[in-house]
Amino acid sequence: MPLYAKVDRAACIACGRCQMLAPELFTYDTEGIASVTLDANTGTQPLTPAQAIDFKLAYTRCPTGAIERRETPFD
Ligand code: SF4
Repeated sequence: MPLYAKVDRAACIACGRCQMLAPELFTYDTEGIASVTLDANTGTQPLTPAQAIDFKLAYTRCPTGAIERRETPFD
């Protein structure tokens, strides 16, 4: 099952947890707000199986639920 991901940047509180848990998947702007590096936070490129494992760690530990996931691409 493919997995697509993006960060709801309005809900991100810049805690840094996702980048610590999955450094290859998340980056930050100058204010510390996260985004998914894979597809410039558009949620249009599927994660590889290895990326999905790291992603799920970050997804479950984001304190605000800002990390979103779908089995189909985001619009
Ligand atoms: S874990 Fe959630 S709140 Fe923290 S930086 Fe990542 S997206 Fe933002």
